[in-house]
Amino acid sequence: MTNEDINSIKQLLKSPKKIVIVPHKNPDGDAIGSTLGLYLYLLKFNHQAAVVAPNAYPDFLKWMPQESTILKYDTQTEMCEKLIHEAEILFTLDFNALNRTGDMETALAACQGTKIMIDHHQQPDDYALYTYSDVTMSSTCEMVYNFIDMLGDNTLIDADIATCLYTGIMTDTGSFRFSSTTSNTHRIIANLIDKGAKNSEIHNAIYDTNSYDRLQLLGRALSNLKVLNDYKTAYITLTQEELNTFNFKKGDTEGFVNYALSLDGIIFAAIFIEDKQNDIIKISLRSKGDFSVNEFSRAHFQGGGHTNAAGGKSDLNMKATVDKFISILPDYKNTLNHA
Ligand code: 5GP
Ligand code: MN
Repeated sequence: MTNEDINSIKQLLKSPKKIVIVPHKNPDGDAIGSTLGLYLYLLKFNHQAAVVAPNAYPDFLKWMPQESTILKYDTQTEMCEKLIHEAEILFTLDFNALNRTGDMETALAACQGTKIMIDHHQQPDDYALYTYSDVTMSSTCEMVYNFIDMLGDNTLIDADIATCLYTGIMTDTGSFRFSSTTSNTHRIIANLIDKGAKNSEIHNAIYDTNSYDRLQLLGRALSNLKVLNDYKTAYITLTQEELNTFNFKKGDTEGFVNYALSLDGIIFAAIFIEDKQNDIIKISLRSKGDFSVNEFSRAHFQGGGHTNAAGGKSDLNMKATVDKFISILPDYKNTLNHA
């Protein structure tokens, strides 16, 4: 994003506008934190803004400031379509291609408003007039902080905005431990605490609100864990039946894949989760070091993401999906053993 872009956006935001802000499908902490943070900032200028999410998100995000104002396209389609159609500005946050919004894609593509992308995923599509894309950023929340700062409005970041942005930086960095966490990330986090983000309370609200069922499901996931030492790889499976047994709710499997990656000597981890409703196996991939799960997912599982965290899906059944995964690994044996 150039100075010229920033000046143009400043001009654009000078008078009240109809604005829609969109996160990706199955929004996570960074997607909800960044969209709400930007929303709260825009409200200060009397814009008519709305956050429109493609679908629902986990309960552990439902305490966030103004979270209850978020509209969901899948259940409130008519109202969302109207807002998107009338939007003069469309912000798309935390995704790099309109198809990451699922069924919302058509409405977004047809929107005549000025599109502004803020995102840290690799290989961004070129649909926005203004694209702020930086794959070195820890999170979209860090970028929204920078965006508000570049607009000269750092002092307008209040406790609620700080809370939203802190949350997304925390969740996308695995609580400040992934290699995307820079000294600058920590400086921003320090500023957000100064502005009123209650760090300890935020960690508690996100990570220490487990249900008993979720912990039992984690137990099952861990007993399903398989290790392929030759490939420094470990994977977990969860069938729909297992999810049902533990009354699965959206978000319950968040972070499970990291247990596979936490094994000593393992640098590539996967979790395969059956989704009978959509007739797919949803896949989450994680890695350490140079092994790119973004490229692996793009090549084999219709997905993408970042170098060390990506997602994808398979239209095969669980057994066939795992067999396919295992059959691909020999092609990566060298890479995995030297990454
Ligand atoms: P997760 O495994 O936590 O769902 O996602 C990890 C990362 O990969 C996130 O940055 C997410 O946006 C991205 N991602 C997850 N699923 C998909 C997918 O199906 N397609 C693409 N392109 N990215 C995905
Ligand atoms: Mn993100």
